[in-house]
Amino acid sequence: MLTLDFHPTGRHFLQIPGPSPVPDRILRAMSLPTIDHRGPEFGALGLKVLADVQKIFQTRHPVIIYPASGTGAWEAALTNVLSPGDHVLMYETGHFASLWHKMATRLGLRAEFLALPGTEAGVPLSWRRGVQAALIEERLKADAQHAIKAVCVVHNETSTGVTSNIAAVRKAIDAAKHPALLMVDTISGLASAEYKHDDWGVDVTVSGSQKGLMLPPGMSFNAVSPKAIEASKSAKLPKAFWAWDEIIEMNKGGYWPYTPNTNLLYGLNEACDMLLAQGLEAVFARHQRWGEGVRAAVRAWGLEIQCAEASVYSPVLTGVIMPEGVDADAVRKLIYERFDCSLGTGLGKVKGRMFRIGHLGDCNDLTLMAALSGCEMGLRLSGVKLAGSGVVAAMDYFSAHPIPRPLQKAA
Ligand SMILES: *Cc1c(COP(=O)(O)O)cnc(C)c1O
Repeated sequence: MLTLDFHPTGRHFLQIPGPSPVPDRILRAMSLPTIDHRGPEFGALGLKVLADVQKIFQTRHPVIIYPASGTGAWEAALTNVLSPGDHVLMYETGHFASLWHKMATRLGLRAEFLALPGTEAGVPLSWRRGVQAALIEERLKADAQHAIKAVCVVHNETSTGVTSNIAAVRKAIDAAKHPALLMVDTISGLASAEYKHDDWGVDVTVSGSQKGLMLPPGMSFNAVSPKAIEASKSAKLPKAFWAWDEIIEMNKGGYWPYTPNTNLLYGLNEACDMLLAQGLEAVFARHQRWGEGVRAAVRAWGLEIQCAEASVYSPVLTGVIMPEGVDADAVRKLIYERFDCSLGTGLGKVKGRMFRIGHLGDCNDLTLMAALSGCEMGLRLSGVKLAGSGVVAAMDYFSAHPIPRPLQKAA
């Protein structure tokens, strides 16, 4: 049983790249009483959030909201548009891309996994770079029969801190004159990193609630293009709960075919109000700036940033590679125990080699300064030789780069 003396004083620093801290304003919105999900008040809420969330995805087409974690929305994306044995081309950017690939295989798809070969600083090269659109173009050009039905990529690879160029992937598919659908996981990118479902020609975008949207876990999304809806009409993978058609039909009145997660929808309504009032451009600029400040700290420590390609640095999180022989999870554990700060663990192929600092959602310069202080103390206590003070470097960066004003922009 949890006892009160276990709970430390002050605020815990939740600096993992999802779930991200939930603002008080959203927690309060979710504390409203649960209402009748078939009643008139609910219909109005449903219509409002469905319209608002389209603005967040930057799409004029339907966005489906599931009461499920992001993994459910991955499955929904695949099962709605594909048939057993279909060939899909996926790209290995890291652990999340690998999990989606594993799921595709389990669902009975022929999931090909493209990657850059080789390793660098003891980690796979492909886990330090963005999606290589040229490799996708080359592979699609070789598929003269158009056996490949979909190209699946992760926009913000949360296990590494790499944000791939999705417009470049679209261009590669078009340059190969290939009809494959483009499916993108932006579970951790949405509402933090720039994302344009329509302009980038994405057919299915998958996202989730607990990262940039600043909500608790438990809600996820599929944004779908007209081409994806067309494909869903003949797709043969079994689906029932995930089927888009019934949900889209019921959503026309603001309702769902089953009981939706009412209180998370109150939260989503509040999150959209906050994000749209600030303006998405301001939200993206804020995250870019935090990323710059945190990377300045990592460089000053003399440690290696997991993302090795500056053009695809993630504005959402930064992966920090440990010197040879240092267990990243031991450093994380020490920082958690001594300074009440949670950092992201290394996942899959980089377990123990690196940790992740989240800089997304409900943060500000001083929450990040606190997290960086925790990291710096923890690294020193773990015996890691630091070249200099990352805390000072980040303070210098944040001081020299004020948040662009006006911060408030009309929605
Ligand atoms: C968090 C995350 C997932 C998994 O989402 P769950 O809500 O944990 O199921 C998948 N892909 C990416 C890129 C993520 O960041």
